[in-house]
Parts: sequence; structure tokens; C-alpha cells
Amino acid sequence: MPIYEYVCESCNNYFALFKHLSTADEDSLCPNCGSEKVKKQLSSFSCSMPDGGSSTGGSFSGGFSGGG
Ligand SMILES: [Zn+2]
Repeated sequence: MPIYEYVCESCNNYFALFKHLSTADEDSLCPNCGSEKVKKQLSSFSCSMPDGGSSTGGSFSGGFSGGG
């Protein structure tokens, strides 16, 4: 179930609600003051990766020796 984040414009209260896709578009009430003037926040799950990420080749030291 997706999580929708809201911010109340009356008391600036931040809260998240678990809402279904069918009821996601419905307005929510602030659990703090009960105001209906809440703004839906867009939660970004994608994390930005730093530019230039080249893995440097490491030297693996062999530890296994073939014994007969
Ligand atoms: Zn509020």
C-alpha cells in the first residue's frame, strides 16, 4: 500500500497516510487540528547517485595454492 505524505497548511503538521490507489485522490484531514487544507507531498524514492562512479581495479592476492 502506497504512503502519501501531507503537510497541513493550518498548523504545518507533517503526516503520512496509508491510502489505497482508489482513495488516494480523496482529500485528507489533518490528524492534528482536523483541517482539510492539506497539501499532498511528492515522495521521491529515487536516490541520486554521485557523478563519476568508476570502480578502480583492485589486486586480488591469491591465497589458494594447488597442493597435490
Ligand atoms: Zn493541521
